[in-house]
Amino acid sequence: MARYPRTEVRSSCGGHGVFAAQPVAARTRILRFGGEVLDAPAIDAAARAGAHDDYLQIGDGLYLGRSGGADDLINHACEPNTYVRVTTRGVFLVALEDIAEGTELRFDYGVTQVAFPFRFRCLCGAASCRGEIGNYDEIPAAVMARYRAAGAIPPHVAARLLARAGRRARRSAARAAQEHDAEIVGLAGLAGPGVQHA
Ligand SMILES: [Zn+2]
Repeated sequence: MARYPRTEVRSSCGGHGVFAAQPVAARTRILRFGGEVLDAPAIDAAARAGAHDDYLQIGDGLYLGRSGGADDLINHACEPNTYVRVTTRGVFLVALEDIAEGTELRFDYGVTQVAFPFRFRCLCGAASCRGEIGNYDEIPAAVMARYRAAGAIPPHVAARLLARAGRRARRSAARAAQEHDAEIVGLAGLAGPGVQHA
C-alpha cells in the first residue's frame, strides 16, 4: 500500500484547508482523490440547481464528486504548491515543489477545467491572483509554462494544448510558404526585362 506524507485538516479562508504535517519533497504523491465519477450532464445539472462546486475535472466530460475525506477540502491557489495528476491507477495530489511542514496544500483548480460550469471569485492573496477562476485557457501563458515544465497539466488539457500548437504550427508553415512564394515572385521581378546582363 502506498504511504503518503502526513497531512492535517485545519481552518483556512473561513473554511477548511489541508496542510502538510511533515516536509514534502517536490513530485511526491500526497494523497489520492476519491469520490464518485460523474459525467457532464450530472455536473451541468448540479450547476443549474445552484449546487456548491464540489467537482474535480479528471477528463473530457469526466469529474470526481465528493469523497467525504480530506481531498474534498483542498483549496485553490493562483500560485499553487501542488497539482493534480490523473493516471490510469488513480487521481493524485502531487507536490509541485518542496513543501515545508505546516504549509497549506493548494492546487490551481483552473488547469483541470474545460468548459467547466462553475466559476468562483478567488481571494488567494497571491500577487498574480487571477481574481476569478474558470477554465484552463484563462490562465496566463507564463503560468501554463511553469505547469508544463513540471508535467502538471492533466492529459485532457494537454491534448487540447497539443492540438492548438499543431494548428498554430500549420498556420505558420502556410505563412512561411506564402512568404517564400512572394520572395520568388520578387526575385523573378528583379530578373525581369529591366535587368541588364553584361
Ligand atoms: Zn487567486
